[in-house]
Amino acid sequence: MRTPVIAGNWKLFKTIGEAVSMVNDLKPLVAATQGVEIIVAPAFTALSRVADELAGSGILLAAQDCYWEEEGAFTGEVAPKMLKDAGCSHVIIGHSERRQYFGETDATVNKKAKAAIKAGLTAIVCVGETLTEREADETFAVLETQLLGGLEGLVPEAFSKVIIAYEPVWAIGTGKTASETQAQEVHAFIRSLMARCFGQGNAESMRILYGGSVKPDNVKGLMAQPDIDGALVGGASLQAASFAAIANFAG
Ligand code: PEP
Repeated sequence: MRTPVIAGNWKLFKTIGEAVSMVNDLKPLVAATQGVEIIVAPAFTALSRVADELAGSGILLAAQDCYWEEEGAFTGEVAPKMLKDAGCSHVIIGHSERRQYFGETDATVNKKAKAAIKAGLTAIVCVGETLTEREADETFAVLETQLLGGLEGLVPEAFSKVIIAYEPVWAIGTGKTASETQAQEVHAFIRSLMARCFGQGNAESMRILYGGSVKPDNVKGLMAQPDIDGALVGGASLQAASFAAIANFAG
């Protein structure tokens, strides 16, 4: 019912040339993949060039961040409409690295998500608890705060343009994946929260991705969980073979 999404976040990796060669390696490996939305998120500098390479491939393009204003004196920022112009259909918002190193808050996530949706992009909104928060039994409370703050004021109709990525901070880039049971438990919680806030129908159709050390050898088990609709992949998205193996999880 919900089309799975496999998205690769390339973070601060790959020059334009490296990005182009990566997608050209990837294209034949996923050419026969059906029923999965495959997304790559290169650095800003490579977006436009990668968009050209992806034309006709079915692979979609995301940016890793955006600003909330359409234009103005905001040195260093990139507007959602500029991302559209560069060929993006999606934008990652509120990644834990942006929250941790660049002062991203639920309030800025909210402004960015609204601006992205207004510009016609799909917002991949990231949430997740730290290890300290999990050990203090605060996971659900933290996620509730992040989601209610990050999605505040969004009208239910905007929900087709939102994908949520649950990324426990302790699992990102650490090689520690949440167990299938841990991830499913949180995804079910997120879906029930979304139903409470935005209606059962919107919650049922919303894709909720898991992120945190997803690899070819653990993706199948995660994807078998009823509320896990895809993966946001960091490290394993940097090589065509491992990313394609994840996108081809269904075999
Ligand atoms: C990420 O960057 O969103 C991520 C999940 O990274 P990794 O897969 O490397 O843990």
